[in-house]
Amino acid sequence: MSPALPLPASGADCAPVLRQRGQREVFCGLTGIVWLHRKVQDAFFLVVGSRTCAHLLQSAAGVMIFAEPRFGTAIIEERDLAGLADANEELDRVVDRLLTRRPDIRMLFLVGSCPSEVIKLDLSRAAQRLSAKHTPDVRILAYSGSGIETTFTEGEDACLAALVPELADEPAGAAPALMIVGALPDIVEDQFLRLFAELGIGPVHCLPARRAGAMPPVGPNTRFLLAQPFLGATATALENRGAQRIDAIFPFGAEGTTAWVHAAARAFGIDEMHFRRTVAPGRERAKRAIEHSREKLAGKRIFFLPDSQLEVPLARFLSNELGMVPVEVGTPYLHRAHLAQELALLPAGTLISEGQDVDRQLDRVRAHQPDLTVCGLGLANPLEAEGLTTKWAIELVFSPIHGFDQAGDLAELFARPLRRRDVLRV
Ligand code: SF4
Repeated sequence: MSPALPLPASGADCAPVLRQRGQREVFCGLTGIVWLHRKVQDAFFLVVGSRTCAHLLQSAAGVMIFAEPRFGTAIIEERDLAGLADANEELDRVVDRLLTRRPDIRMLFLVGSCPSEVIKLDLSRAAQRLSAKHTPDVRILAYSGSGIETTFTEGEDACLAALVPELADEPAGAAPALMIVGALPDIVEDQFLRLFAELGIGPVHCLPARRAGAMPPVGPNTRFLLAQPFLGATATALENRGAQRIDAIFPFGAEGTTAWVHAAARAFGIDEMHFRRTVAPGRERAKRAIEHSREKLAGKRIFFLPDSQLEVPLARFLSNELGMVPVEVGTPYLHRAHLAQELALLPAGTLISEGQDVDRQLDRVRAHQPDLTVCGLGLANPLEAEGLTTKWAIELVFSPIHGFDQAGDLAELFARPLRRRDVLRV
């Protein structure tokens, strides 16, 4: 067994990147609240925004009705926008009311939006002011999820980056600890924690933790593994606290997960034979699980429009493990350092594009006529109407896709639209 992926002689790591700026079709960073509020169970996300922001959240998360939801919107009314009311006073009142009614809240995020930016409401200062009042019962932090500053998954990055300065210092003389960074479904997180325990790596912490009071400490003995490729600001904030990033590809597929775990095993000096024995069952399970989709996907050409920043690692998984041919891999932002190993594993000749000029990109989609186009909800229907087969990118963010035991489901997410197309054609 070869635990790490062999690097090909030439990949897309040094290929020129097509950078485009123009109209883009991507969700704003508020969307991250949909998965973050499920993760930190005693946190509350208060969006300071408009009715549009409230509607976005309701429709993105609207399939679930909670008796006591963990997110809400403080609506900025027209008189706030016109400067006729003191928005800070109103915000303080809303927060006081919320915390009185919901004593279970231990961490409150004030989430900025386009309207709060337009009226220049300083939510960081508001968070400091309100923290002074509500500490130690509630920690109050602020970050921006506005469509002016963030796209889609950048909301999680902004949230976690706001959390990092709040983390405790690791104890003096602490043993090296591993931190898994990025919100993962609990079931996936538990699988990784079991695997690292079997390997003998510990202590292992997760950021974010499931409760506000259990956030991990950080310091020079912290080695962190990014579980998501969109956490550039969080990684910088952790490095500023002395933590060291373990460079790895991301845990998608049998090989991706093996390489990700292997990077941690090497950083913690785990014996190579022990590593191989420990990961072998999961790796084999994952390889068997994706085999079912290979027949449908091998040789098929795939085009990624920029959406979640998962595009490069997913294209690597689909090309290396399932034989798909990535035509263009578009991403809202390309973090060259965090994705260096991923890019090296993409087939040479793959076009990497960063940013979006949607009309020009759609022209390229039409010119290439890919077998599968991964795109946002707004573009999928028009492309389907033109006879192209599409996959909603948002499903890739909302589904558990990391790790050995999700590899089969991940492959199936791409195979399903092609099966549906074949059935419809018959
Ligand atoms: Fe729209 Fe901006 Fe609100 Fe996002 S933050 S829903 S882009 S108004």
